[in-house]
Parts: sequence; structure tokens; C-alpha cells
Amino acid sequence: MARSLLATIIFLAALQPIIVLGAGDAAARLTAQGKQFEERIFKIADNAYTAVGYSVSNVSMIVGDDGVVIIDTGMTLDDAGRIAEEFRKITDLPVKAIIFTHAHGDHTGGAAAFLGESRPQIWAHENFGSEARGWVSGDLTVQKMRGARQAGFRLPPDQRINNGVAPVRYPKRGGAVFSSDDKTSPTHFLRGDQQSLNIAGIELELVSSPGETNDQLFVWYSAGKALFAGDNFYRSFPNL
Ligand SMILES: [Zn+2]
Repeated sequence: MARSLLATIIFLAALQPIIVLGAGDAAARLTAQGKQFEERIFKIADNAYTAVGYSVSNVSMIVGDDGVVIIDTGMTLDDAGRIAEEFRKITDLPVKAIIFTHAHGDHTGGAAAFLGESRPQIWAHENFGSEARGWVSGDLTVQKMRGARQAGFRLPPDQRINNGVAPVRYPKRGGAVFSSDDKTSPTHFLRGDQQSLNIAGIELELVSSPGETNDQLFVWYSAGKALFAGDNFYRSFPNL
């Protein structure tokens, strides 16, 4: 019985067309996909803007009455500095809060570029940084190997067309995963499933949403009907 089932599966599999992509096709498709990472500031709703392509992750700004909220901060100070410059062309109101959707370095590493003279609130999930703690304390490297294979970190430069979900812009192989800079560490935490905030007159809902990481949260901006989903949603195969 098992043998005939196996034979049937092999027979059916043999009927499927086989698609073979040459290296040239793959390179052309990756290059075409890279167009989504061209540097642009999108106005996604009234008073809400998202910077795409400047860094490994998107950075967003919501403008309120007397200040702004920044959601995620990009990977490096250089990336984030260029985004901050673009955002300042829209408004020069001070940053009242930064919200990290999760602790990955490409969302947190540029935070210092958005700090003004008065320190903003920095919000994150109560599990912030929990993903890597066990790996670091156990000196495990399996997740680094997995990430390197998934995003092609070890390919020679001429073959590194993009990271699949982002332009190639890692300062070094693998990059830093967490910011250890005290000034950019979270000061406020989402505890439980959900929490409402009003910052600079902006009504926001933080929603716990473990997915890509255990410390992921969604930000819901109801006035603009905009959801900031962090890395739980993007245009490539999920990073779960
Ligand atoms: Zn992530």
C-alpha cells in the first residue's frame, strides 16, 4: 500500500513542469525587485510619513500638535540621519516618542539620530530583546548562520543584489543585532495585550503581536487608518 502510494506520488511529481531559473534570470528578477528599495518618503495618511529604501527597515513619522512620534529608527546612524533630515523638511517639531516594533538592530540602531535636547519616551514590548538573550548567553550561532544563508550575507559583493526584504546596507557581515546605547534603550513598555497612548495629541494603540520575534508589536494609528506592522508583514517570504 505504502509502495503504491509512493509510486503514485513519484508519477504525479513527474508530470509537474520543471522550472529551472538560470543565474541570469535570478539576477534580473532580484534587480527588478530592488526597485522597491529606491529611497522615497511616502505620505501614507494625513500627518503620517514612511521613509523607504534609506535603511534595511522602514522608518515612519506621525506629526502631532506639538511634536512627532517616530516608529522604528533604521539600522545605522548614517541611514537614520539622512531620514531625519528628510523628515525635518516636513516639520521641525521635536520628537516626543520613539516606538520600536521589536528589538532587531535594523529597527533600533539609528535611534540616536532622532534624539533631541529633551529625551523622548522610547516605547517597546515588555519582551524587548528576549529573542537573542538565550542565544547570546549560550554562545549559539545557529541563528546567525541561518540569517546569513537566508539573506546571502556571505555572497561575494557582485552577487549581493539585495537582502530580499531590503537593500544591501549592512555595515559589516551580520551587523549588530542590538543597540546597547543607554540613551536609546526603551524607557516605557507595552505590558499585556494592548495599550492606548496619546502623545502630542496623536492617539495610538500598541498591540502585542509575537510573530517574527517574541517582542513584536503593532502600532495602530486610527486617525490615519494606518497599521505599522514591523517585521510581521512584508512583501517577501515571511521571516517567522
Ligand atoms: Zn526583524
